[in-house]
Amino acid sequence: EVVIGLEVHAQVTSKSKLFSGASTEFGGEPNSHVSLVDAAMPGMLPVINEECVRQAVTTGLGLNAQINLRSVFDRKNYFYPDSPQGYQISQYKSPIVGEGEVVLELDGGRTATIGIERLHLEQDAGKLLHDQSPTMSYVDLNRCGVALMEIVSRPDIRDAEQAKAYVTKLRSILRYLGTCDGDMEKGSLRADVNVSVRKPGGPLGTRCEIKNMNSITFIGQAIEYEARRQIEIIEDGGAIDQETRLFDPNKGETRSMRSKEEAHDYRYFPDPDLLPLEFTQSYVDDLKAQLPELPDQKKARFIEGFGLSPYDASVLVAERESADFYETVLGGLADKARDGKLAANWVINELFGRLNKEGRDISA
Ligand code: ADP
Ligand code: MG
Repeated sequence: EVVIGLEVHAQVTSKSKLFSGASTEFGGEPNSHVSLVDAAMPGMLPVINEECVRQAVTTGLGLNAQINLRSVFDRKNYFYPDSPQGYQISQYKSPIVGEGEVVLELDGGRTATIGIERLHLEQDAGKLLHDQSPTMSYVDLNRCGVALMEIVSRPDIRDAEQAKAYVTKLRSILRYLGTCDGDMEKGSLRADVNVSVRKPGGPLGTRCEIKNMNSITFIGQAIEYEARRQIEIIEDGGAIDQETRLFDPNKGETRSMRSKEEAHDYRYFPDPDLLPLEFTQSYVDDLKAQLPELPDQKKARFIEGFGLSPYDASVLVAERESADFYETVLGGLADKARDGKLAANWVINELFGRLNKEGRDISA
């Protein structure tokens, strides 16, 4: 049996960074969106961005998760040239969001519930550019300090199909909430994929972690390859080394990046420049009252209200834009003059078919 747990890094939708006023805009000239805080000049102090906090709480609520009224920012200490502070501000023992869940719909009407262990806020790093000069590497700090939500699943995922469905569903929820644009090509959503194998029902096996995956298709391929690799080793009488691996999309293989012996000791401690975050219950309740209708709720309403099949409803709610367009075709909620099924057929078959053929999407 394959056992999978995912750590998804989702870039928070916000105008400015987690602890500075610099812009989060994608694609600027290198080092054009960098404040003195992001560059870690001596004496600079982080100031929490309220909008990022609001987005994290909203995400937690959308994942039916426990919102922790008190959370703490910690320093995770390590040296990397694209991270001039010499540490990442993250959350360790007291994250902003605790346990939640995501329900997956699989082929043949099956469902699976995947537990969320936690969601915490942390800073993104900058980017190293190795291909600009034959003798030097460059550093672009534009992304340095941008807010990320790390969403950690329980090891509840059992195969590549479920893992792909999980990332798809999570992405859909984040996009509905407006808390992350989900653009995987731009790196707004990326996943570390932990894979192990075991005898069915037995204790958890040793896991390998495949880092920084930014394509749902590749996540599926990496899991298939990695599970086969581990099973072969075990069936040959060997043992799995806990290690970090990278997926090579050209070869369709994972390969070792570093082993457990090189595991970091991050020396986490509470950041002395930041107070703990404390909310009142009414702050959380207000955000809950403002949540938009999420895909599961919308699907149920489409089935109930417009007589759609669960399959058609799923197709329409997968993207908020498609669902909105469908409702526009229907003439809005109040006007039931048009036939719900007929409109769904037209949107799914005629319109989506045509868009597909022309390689465009609904928002375009
Ligand atoms: P780390 O941050 O060191 O990678 P975590 O405890 O945060 O460790 O776990 C990371 C992820 O690994 C979680 O998503 C969890 O579900 C998953 N995981 C833990 N143990 C296993 C295992 N034996 N097999 C597969 N996934 C696992
Ligand atoms: Mg990890």
